[in-house]
Amino acid sequence: MDSGLAALLGAAVGSAATLGAAIVNGRAQARSQHAQQSRQHRRDARYLSALHDRDLAMDAVLDALRPDRPDLTTVEERTARFVTLAREVHRTCEEETAEPTPPPPSPLPLPLIACDGPGKEHLFRPHASWVTTCGPCHREQQRAYAAELLARAEADPAPAPPSWRERVAAEARADGASG
Ligand SMILES: [Zn+2]
Repeated sequence: MDSGLAALLGAAVGSAATLGAAIVNGRAQARSQHAQQSRQHRRDARYLSALHDRDLAMDAVLDALRPDRPDLTTVEERTARFVTLAREVHRTCEEETAEPTPPPPSPLPLPLIACDGPGKEHLFRPHASWVTTCGPCHREQQRAYAAELLARAEADPAPAPPSWRERVAAEARADGASG
């Protein structure tokens, strides 16, 4: 039994599991980041829309002032509307800065459970609901499993595939027999 090879295989299986956990965590983080970004986009859109409405109101005021004898009622109405919209922009802007960006929600820690692994009974906190063994026990089990696979493969080795020389020789023999 090549213990070095078994350890290597065990380590490979272990790091694949770690990578899986990292991918799951990464996805959760990406989801919360996405939610945060879309909130930010909605705030930006509200602000830009308010800004746009205010600019249109400003143009309307200028238009009303353009004639030599401006209609003061129109000027007053449009100015009032401009002031309202300018306040709206200010309010949206304040909202933008006042609303703190919430930190990404950290996943709720799962309760401690008894480990399925061998040896003395011990508790651990699983990183996912389907986990039943703690990290060290899980890795130990994977190492044992890998060692078992290796032992089985060594006990019953598959015949080595024929080399190309052997295959060519076999073809030549087959040709000779038929021809
Ligand atoms: Zn354990």
